[in-house]
Amino acid sequence: MEIAIIAHDGKKAEMVQFLNEHKTILNDKNIHLIATGTTGTKTEKAGFEVIKLLSGPYGGDAQIAARVAEGETNMVIFFRDPLEKHPHEPDIFMLMRLCDVYNVPLATNPATAELLIKAL
Ligand code: PGA
Repeated sequence: MEIAIIAHDGKKAEMVQFLNEHKTILNDKNIHLIATGTTGTKTEKAGFEVIKLLSGPYGGDAQIAARVAEGETNMVIFFRDPLEKHPHEPDIFMLMRLCDVYNVPLATNPATAELLIKAL
């Protein structure tokens, strides 16, 4: 199962904390993590194996959106910062739209992510 993780800058610390809290589940050999560039670097530093794609503003969200469309990514955990503006807003909306098109579970905040992880 492939899980994509993305965190906007204001939410990266919270993402690392979330990953650490769910280390046991996320380190399962059947779970493969992919992430946008900077989120991926932080995830790696926290001790996880992760495939790093491009940084969000440079196309990382679009890459994940494509993987959702191709049926490669099975879940998206995306800690969005709703209080900031993002230059790649169109890519973010594309990712969320494609999750809905393909019925792929998408958590956009820690509370929902917690519920999704518990369902694994
Ligand atoms: P980043 O991208 O992990 O490279 O910071 C996240 C985003 O802003 O979508």
